[in-house]
Amino acid sequence: MHNPLEYLGRQIESWKQAGTYQALRELQTACQPVCRIDGREVINLASNNYLGLADHPQLIEAAVQATRRYGAGSGAVRSIAGTMSIHLELERRIADFKRVEACVVFQSGFAANSGTVAAILSPEDHIVSDELNHASIIDGCRLSKAKIHVFPHKDTAAAGRILEELDNQPGRKLLATDGVFSMDGDIAPLPALVEIAQRHGAILMIDDAHASGVLGRNGRGTVDHFGLHGQVDIQVGTLSKAIGVLGGYVCGRRELIEYLYHRARPFLFSTSHPPAVAASCLAAFDILEREPERIENLWNNTRYFKTALQAAGFRTGSSETPITPILVGDAGAAHAFSRALFEEGLFATGIGYPTVAQGKARVRTIMTATHSRDLIDRALEILSRVARKSGILAE
Ligand SMILES: *Cc1c(COP(=O)(O)O)cnc(C)c1O
Repeated sequence: MHNPLEYLGRQIESWKQAGTYQALRELQTACQPVCRIDGREVINLASNNYLGLADHPQLIEAAVQATRRYGAGSGAVRSIAGTMSIHLELERRIADFKRVEACVVFQSGFAANSGTVAAILSPEDHIVSDELNHASIIDGCRLSKAKIHVFPHKDTAAAGRILEELDNQPGRKLLATDGVFSMDGDIAPLPALVEIAQRHGAILMIDDAHASGVLGRNGRGTVDHFGLHGQVDIQVGTLSKAIGVLGGYVCGRRELIEYLYHRARPFLFSTSHPPAVAASCLAAFDILEREPERIENLWNNTRYFKTALQAAGFRTGSSETPITPILVGDAGAAHAFSRALFEEGLFATGIGYPTVAQGKARVRTIMTATHSRDLIDRALEILSRVARKSGILAE
């Protein structure tokens, strides 16, 4: 029979030949430091559940209560009949937490980024974007049809030169950066970016997906980390990583949020969160403010693990946060290393092109607050043993 999608199968076959095909791993327990995946107990170094909130009893209880009270679903998009009291309560809570005028919550961080960039830019505008920015920022820009100018990773001088060249061109300029870069775990040079944006009258946007709940006081993010409150126009955060649930948000001036209420397409055309999601997120912010020791644990574990990895001879690149890549180079080798680790009881994902550049494939590890020292030591032992066997570390 005629199959017009046959070319997809051929492409998949070529990935299998190259060793870059990745079967989905099946998580059979809650997301925890040790979980069962594909029938095997493994140490989990692959989740973004930085603070261990994903299965926290208070978040679960909040979800159950909200479901009982308000139902399983919200019934409509936000701009029609899907704005529930609990959605507004969460937005006020986040705005207070982030010390900004207002906040809008989206269904995901992806929707927050793509929906916001697409809404505020037009074809005559420009986005100046770090080459390692998240796909959702890029997608937003493509949807807006604004012109994309990519600068080398964290090269603020290059970003400044691009903006200077754009100074006498029409259109608005958006300077966009991730707060913490998701593949390398390094932190954006925010003070320099603030200065450049101000010098050239550009809008400054930061995507704090991996910094929310991780950097800054009580996890307030990169702006707080650098003490730059009031100097970043658009702060995006996620509720899906350290917060442990699902969603994304945009924080800033009231006019930005009002505008997005009227123009951001995921807000207008996609149903709002179930009440349970908003309730769990509210519970998570309570915990962030009440239990700062979770974030301390996260950073203590991170320092301990990273130092030990480096002492063992692993190349960890420029990481400064709980995301620590182990650089391998070849994509096939990175995926093979990841598979071998899994066989020995450790789950860390292999990442290759197109998620990272050709030749910069890696196994990415993510530390959390809830990994015990004993578990971290076991993880280090497995990593070193398997790396020696795979030729990633010298024998
Ligand atoms: C994960 C991530 C997102 C998307 O967030 P979700 O809430 O998972 O949709 C956006 N930006 C960056 C940098 C991310 O790492």
